[in-house]
Amino acid sequence: MRIGAHVDPADPLAEAAARGAEAVQFFLADPQSYKNPEPREDAERLRASDVDVFIHAPYRLNVASTNNKIRIPSRKLLMTHARAAAEIGAKGLIVHGGHVDGGDLAAGFANWRKAFEYAEKDGGLPLPILIENTAGGENACARRFDNLARLWDAVGEFGAGFCLDTCHAFAGGEDLVGIVDRVKAITGRIDLIHANDSKGGFDSGQDRHDNLGNGKIDPELVVAAIRASGAPAIVETPGGVEGQRADIALLRERSGA
Ligand SMILES: [Zn+2]
Repeated sequence: MRIGAHVDPADPLAEAAARGAEAVQFFLADPQSYKNPEPREDAERLRASDVDVFIHAPYRLNVASTNNKIRIPSRKLLMTHARAAAEIGAKGLIVHGGHVDGGDLAAGFANWRKAFEYAEKDGGLPLPILIENTAGGENACARRFDNLARLWDAVGEFGAGFCLDTCHAFAGGEDLVGIVDRVKAITGRIDLIHANDSKGGFDSGQDRHDNLGNGKIDPELVVAAIRASGAPAIVETPGGVEGQRADIALLRERSGA
């Protein structure tokens, strides 16, 4: 099992070492902005490292949006982040499933498809895009798994990958028991697990991560999801080095890894 944490981007390898992590995830630019990533001085060290690197795209990025002013910059941002992530040897770029502003989710799925078509025309994606399930909203593309199935009908042929967030699934109203099989029946793959507990209750729609065993989720179900998926896991939990190191230790201990 490869287990790690979402960390500050200043020195991700030092953050990984401090947590005893075999994987790290970080942002390449301010997650609340449409800024393109800057080249990194530690690119070569990151590429050469034994630590698995994953990059999380900015939250603003929403290629499903029916609003041109959001969708067009989002497509461009997807490409600049994908290239910058590949440049440092990342194994995947995690992108939230996104949402549409009105009620017509069909437009959102079509827009996802167009984002992949745009990427193909623009030279292709240099690393896997891992679409992540989200916790909230009535018009989300990847909250409920019936919608995830419609999304995959639109993007599956482009080789899209999937990142399963346990907090988002629980708060989004999807049962964690047997969840890996249910996801794989739709996507055929799980590339990464975001191993988070949830402060919000089942189907609350609240995206509020908690340390494992502290929130509303039975940690055994998180461990079971990691095991069943065989995918690396990243904790996106509070408490800095201490909090995340404890979460990583809990996952290793309970999984016998
Ligand atoms: Zn997540």
